[in-house]
Amino acid sequence: MPKAIDALETHYRGSSRYDLKMVCCGKPNCGRCPHGPYWYVTIQLRSGKAVRRYLGKERPAEVPEPEKTPTGARSAEVQHVR
Ligand SMILES: [Zn+2]
Repeated sequence: MPKAIDALETHYRGSSRYDLKMVCCGKPNCGRCPHGPYWYVTIQLRSGKAVRRYLGKERPAEVPEPEKTPTGARSAEVQHVR
């Protein structure tokens, strides 16, 4: 059973909860854990059951973008000094 680590982002949309999570696969010789981050949605059904779905690495269209970092700071980060 893969071990879930704390969600990096959580968004609520109606009865659905979107989580961005790093996931540990649990393989002893993996060496690349944790994996991700990956998006998951948990849908609360009327019956009281909850269904969880894996959405992949792409931010779902339903989830708003996080606050953008200033472009100045970002371009400085990309520059490499030789
Ligand atoms: Zn792993």
